[in-house]
Amino acid sequence: PKPADHQTSARPKLDAARVDRQRPLVQPWPQAGSIGTTLLGPIGSGDGIYVTDEAGRKLMDGPAGMWCVNVGHRRAELADAMRDQAMALSYSSPWYTTSAPSLQLAERLAAHAPGDLDHVFFTTGGSSAVETALRFMQFSNNVRGRPEKKIIVSRQGAYHGSTYLSASLNGRPRDLNWMDSLSDKVVMLSCPNPFQRPSGMDEAQFADFLVDEFRQVIERVGAENIGAHVAEPIMASGGVIVPPAGYVKRMFELCRANDILYIADEVVTAFGRLGHVFASKDVFGIEPDMITFAKGVTSGYFPLGGVMISARLLEELRRSNHPEAMFAHGLTYSSHPIGCAVALKNLDILEDGLLEHARAISPYFQKSLKTLEELPLVGEVRGMGLMACVDCVADKVNRNPLALDVEVGKRIDAHCQERGLLVRPLINMCVISPPLIITEPEIDRMTEILSASIRQTMDDLTRDGLWNG
Ligand code: PLP
Repeated sequence: PKPADHQTSARPKLDAARVDRQRPLVQPWPQAGSIGTTLLGPIGSGDGIYVTDEAGRKLMDGPAGMWCVNVGHRRAELADAMRDQAMALSYSSPWYTTSAPSLQLAERLAAHAPGDLDHVFFTTGGSSAVETALRFMQFSNNVRGRPEKKIIVSRQGAYHGSTYLSASLNGRPRDLNWMDSLSDKVVMLSCPNPFQRPSGMDEAQFADFLVDEFRQVIERVGAENIGAHVAEPIMASGGVIVPPAGYVKRMFELCRANDILYIADEVVTAFGRLGHVFASKDVFGIEPDMITFAKGVTSGYFPLGGVMISARLLEELRRSNHPEAMFAHGLTYSSHPIGCAVALKNLDILEDGLLEHARAISPYFQKSLKTLEELPLVGEVRGMGLMACVDCVADKVNRNPLALDVEVGKRIDAHCQERGLLVRPLINMCVISPPLIITEPEIDRMTEILSASIRQTMDDLTRDGLWNG
């Protein structure tokens, strides 16, 4: 929709949430027609992989909050770490002081990070981490006398945040339709989704096509004008897009060959989601110039994020002709001592067997969900590690997504909730990324619930004349 259409276009269907009265709390991604009136399902408590809603219904937390509650809900160790740190030192200014937890966490993250990513700048979440990485790239190129080298290459389907610059990289149409963005600073590449690749191409040819596209962009825009490529190793909110084999490494190598910084956005994929603290090297074989992270670093118990930064980049700054140049960037809550204390304890839990568990159980999780492909509504179940997506299509041959207004994801989610499972609906898709502590019987149960709920959704759609699969 274009803003000029606002008086004439048909009224779109509103969120199923209650619109009975005005409410003081405005939550993320509201629609204009119901803003300030919606009440999303209130959740009262959580324990392990479960949350309990206001009505006392116990629900499996399929998306682990927002891909973040990696060690599960109600971990006493994390609550104790938070309380102990608050009683010892609740806050100290990162401008003038350091705290022990932030120093320790920096050391431990540097030890886990690949290559020479020996430094970390802490932020308050994922958007601020991506924003920091991009502002650092801009600063670095200014200091190094190449102020024109600032274009950022992103991809269709990407999600990198909700601050102005990070949001400008978002590649899902509904994220940009009504929002301003810094489009002159960004070039978009195709989404590396093998399921929606052009017909007639096999996966290997699709990978060639994608890498060629990037090569052509570099030729057209000029490497001297491109500052960075930002990429989620697996696009999360875009629908758990697992790119074709070899793609990540080849895109990284193109960046290296052209002096373009490769920023891996591991806000979702780090801290065990793919079985490792960071996935870039261990899963994809690359050593990015920066890695952004958030979410699982504290398992969502405290808002914290950060950017791992290559020692080489800092060395280049120290040797520049502008030692007086200031990276005028920092957040009041950078290096927050409570967040860092929680992250240290969270890392203990991950290192103490949970990463291993995640690696061991991932094949079972993927195989179990894959059985849903036998349902006529399901075009593909894809994923890696403990993240997966059920992609529904109107017909399996043409792989066309169902019309947006069918809101298949929401219908499936509603039926799943009746049976005790929360999933994350994304238009025609459902995303599942449970706490890493999930067990095989719990995975079986999750798949059973999804299967029954998708069958029920097929019946509903057929009854309403919305699908004839
Ligand atoms: N990057 C990725 C890959 C994300 O998935 C998200 C959030 O979902 C963000 C960045 C933004 O993180 P936050 O919501 O913590 O600001």
